[in-house]
Amino acid sequence: MRKVSSLAFGIALALGLAACSEAPSENTEGNTSSVNQTQLSSGVQTENLDTSVRAQDNFFRYVNGQWLARTEIPSDRARWGSFDELRERAEEHVLEIVREAANGSGAAGSNQQKIGDLFRSYMDEERIEELGLSPLAEDFATIDALDSHAALATYWGEQQRYRAGTPIALSVGQDQMSSDQYVTSLSQSGLGLPDRDYYLSDDERNQILRRQYAEFIQELWNEAGWANAETAAETILAIETQIAAEHWSRIQNRDRVASYNKMSIEELTEAAPDFDWQAFIAAADLDIAEIVVRQPDYMAAFARMQNNIAVADWQTYLKFHALRSSASMLSSNFAAVSFDFYGRILQGLEEDRSRERRAVSAVESVLGFMVGEEYVARHFKPEAQERMAEMVDNILIAFGEAIDQLDWMTAETKTQAHEKLATFTTKIGYPEKWRNYDCVTIEADDLFGNMRRSADCEYDRMISRLGEPVDAYDWGMTPQTVNAYYRSTMNEIVFPAAILQPPFFDVNADDAVNYGAIGAVIGHEITHGFDDQGRRSDGDGNLRDWWSPVDEEQFRTRAQQVVDQFSAFNPIDDLYLQGALSLGENIADLGGLNVALRGYRNSLAGNEAPVIDGFTGEQRFFVGWGQIWRIKFRDEALRRQVVVGPHSPGKYRVLGPLSNMPEFYQAFDVEPGDEMYRGDDIRVKIW
Ligand SMILES: [Zn+2]
Repeated sequence: MRKVSSLAFGIALALGLAACSEAPSENTEGNTSSVNQTQLSSGVQTENLDTSVRAQDNFFRYVNGQWLARTEIPSDRARWGSFDELRERAEEHVLEIVREAANGSGAAGSNQQKIGDLFRSYMDEERIEELGLSPLAEDFATIDALDSHAALATYWGEQQRYRAGTPIALSVGQDQMSSDQYVTSLSQSGLGLPDRDYYLSDDERNQILRRQYAEFIQELWNEAGWANAETAAETILAIETQIAAEHWSRIQNRDRVASYNKMSIEELTEAAPDFDWQAFIAAADLDIAEIVVRQPDYMAAFARMQNNIAVADWQTYLKFHALRSSASMLSSNFAAVSFDFYGRILQGLEEDRSRERRAVSAVESVLGFMVGEEYVARHFKPEAQERMAEMVDNILIAFGEAIDQLDWMTAETKTQAHEKLATFTTKIGYPEKWRNYDCVTIEADDLFGNMRRSADCEYDRMISRLGEPVDAYDWGMTPQTVNAYYRSTMNEIVFPAAILQPPFFDVNADDAVNYGAIGAVIGHEITHGFDDQGRRSDGDGNLRDWWSPVDEEQFRTRAQQVVDQFSAFNPIDDLYLQGALSLGENIADLGGLNVALRGYRNSLAGNEAPVIDGFTGEQRFFVGWGQIWRIKFRDEALRRQVVVGPHSPGKYRVLGPLSNMPEFYQAFDVEPGDEMYRGDDIRVKIW
């Protein structure tokens, strides 16, 4: 649910790998620091370099080759890289907090009691085994009692709180056309596989995956002791294939204008007839006159499907999804079947994470900001916040200079771009106001109930925003998250505490490597406000076209070049990157590097950078970027990332942008004939 609601709030794409991420560290800053730069380390992790690879041919391998050679992906991970290393560290810190709470005896309702008892409820395997499937008994009874399509419409509405297999999903977030208000959005949903492509693509790999998905359905079905598993699997797969065929693609969903369709409920009823939208909305506890429909033609198709599919078949679909979505919290037989498909088959994992680590994830998902408050008290240094703020200011200044010097944009549009840049706000570290969890009651022997009460609490929190002023203190990520994001409706960039540490930001390293790492990450987030979707809203956070037609055309031409460049990368098998899916991220990387380099040059104030460890300042800048993207993927996970995006795998986040930068060519003497060389005429610079 969090993911969906975040999307509705307009959080675009952080920087990261899996999600969106970036991890800075403490700040070392050139122009503001009084530290003598010659005493600082280079920040280059020389033990990772592979000097047998030419930097000009493959900078990713040159910077990370030895690390790639000696690193094994842990057996319970789908990939391993610099972000994962930091995430592991953050998770260990959270585990300490959680264990202490579990070993203490906090007063009922206290933070310590809630954190501790939630953890204990997850760790109480004996109780969980004893309960078996019984926590879902009431849900199954409700599904069994559905006796008409009208009853289904109400059921979909009631289930919005829990999201166990609903083909349509409601969320409340800032209105992208009136960002000072909240609005309800309606989106497509309802699939058990990661994307519609898994159902629709006829290549051999997807055919095999569909067969394995059908086997998974049967195993879960049998485990529940229900009859006719094979028929059930056919029915479920047939329904999901119908849903998938009507889903918009991820590329279509990126289009903020096409997916913004505000309608009255009467208009929705007219556009998607024969479904009782009023009953659905009322059952979701909403009293609304209008709604933003993200995929109108999907809703029309859904309304038809909902009526054409027999109630009994929907019941089969619903029972499976109720079971599937809770399987990891049920007794070990269900959890194991679920891991076998979602972990082993879809991600290539050799083993599941330990129960303790899964318990930590559950605590994070239910009480994330409560844990974050303690995490910040223990692990966040106020000086990191100050130094980070200085660096953000410097990069914002550099972005303004970059706008002034663009050779493709007219003065009129530059003025508008400056206006947007001037209204950026920044959040660093942790929220000024902590989230209140009074609405969640946690009991040490009731894992399932805890999760349900949390879902109720968060859903009520979300819908109670309607009609209220926008919460400027809201955070879309907890402070212990190793990531960062840009939110268009607030025009803000946000850097949680956990990303403010090495290797993203090394207080003991000279500026160059920090500008290439966290500096470029800051630039990346700012550039999201000016990427192919971010540019469509203004400084107030509203979708508004502030571009002259000629500048729009110039932008689109350059964006298409970025699409084409990335679509030519072929990471595995016959799979190519989807340049149109990762476009926003790739523009953000390219822009982020350009403005961070400008910020670095400004920081030198005309002085020459020292040579450290044999690297010039600009060489270290680029090495800083190369280092943060070191990563290894399992094949399954790499394929998944290419299909669902939106971030290009780390290797291409290094090779792609740098091959467009003349400053990189200069720093490393890249010449025609080198593998990273692109001719002048095919290099792209947008920001
Ligand atoms: Zn991003």
